[in-house]
Amino acid sequence: MPVLVISVLALLLVGWIAGRPWLAEVRRARIRRQPFPAHWRGFLQRRMPYFRRLPADLQLQLKKHIQVFIAEKPFIGCAGLEITDEMRVTIAAQACLLILNRKADYYPNLRQILVYPGAFVVNKVHTDGIGILQEQRQVLSGESWSQGQVILSWEDTVEGADVSDDGQNVVIHEFAHQLDQETGQANGAPVLAPGQNRKEWARTLAAEFETLQMQAQHHEASLFSHYGATNPAEFFAVASEVFFERPAQMAEEHPALYRQLSLFYRLNPLSW
Ligand SMILES: [Zn+2]
Repeated sequence: MPVLVISVLALLLVGWIAGRPWLAEVRRARIRRQPFPAHWRGFLQRRMPYFRRLPADLQLQLKKHIQVFIAEKPFIGCAGLEITDEMRVTIAAQACLLILNRKADYYPNLRQILVYPGAFVVNKVHTDGIGILQEQRQVLSGESWSQGQVILSWEDTVEGADVSDDGQNVVIHEFAHQLDQETGQANGAPVLAPGQNRKEWARTLAAEFETLQMQAQHHEASLFSHYGATNPAEFFAVASEVFFERPAQMAEEHPALYRQLSLFYRLNPLSW
C-alpha cells in the first residue's frame, strides 16, 4: 500500500512539474489577449521615443511582452520612491526589447525590480592586491544580481530612454546582464540563439574586448564606453546598449560584432 501511495504522489509531482510551463503559457496567452491600456500607450509615447522607431510587428510584440512582464514581475520602490504605472511601463518596455523575436520566458531568474529615485550608493567588498578585504563605496545608476534582482535609478532610466541614440541605456545594460546571468555569473557568454556558433561568438567578442581595453588604457575614443573594458561581462552589456541605440555606427565600425549581436538578439536594428 505505501508503495502505491508513493507512486501516486510521485506521479502527481511529475505531472505538476511538467504542467507548470504549460499553465504559465496559458496564463500568459490570456494576458496577451487583453487590450493594451490607453494610458500605457501614452507613457510609451512620452517616455520612449525608441518605440516609434520599431516596425509595426515588433511594436505589437513589445506591447504584449510589456503586459506579461508587468503582470509577473514585482517592482519595489526604494528610498521612499512610490512605484507608478509610468515607471513599470518605461522599464518593462526597455527590458523587453532584449527578448523580442525569441521564445520569451521573461527573464526566468528575475524575481523583482528595485527602483531608486536617482543614483544609489552601494558598499562593495573586494580583496586588494595583498589579500586584505576592502570596502568601497560606489555610486551606481543600475545593477543586476544573479540572485534575481535588477536595481535601477529612475532618473537614469528616464534619461536613457529619452536619448535613444547615444548608445547609453541603463535598462538595456542591466537586462543584458540578466540574460548573461542565466548561465550563472555574468561572463559575456550567455545562452546563444539556436544554431549560433559559440566559437565565433567567443572569438569576436574577445577580440573587440581586447581592442577596447587597449583604447581605454591609452585614453583613445571608442564607440563603446571605456567601462566596457572592465571585464567581458561589462563589455557584452555595453555592446548591447550600442547595438540597440547606435546600430548604424556599430555595423560600419564593428561589422563582425554587429553580426554576432544581431544573431544573438534575433534583431536587425539597422533596418528600422
Ligand atoms: Zn554592468
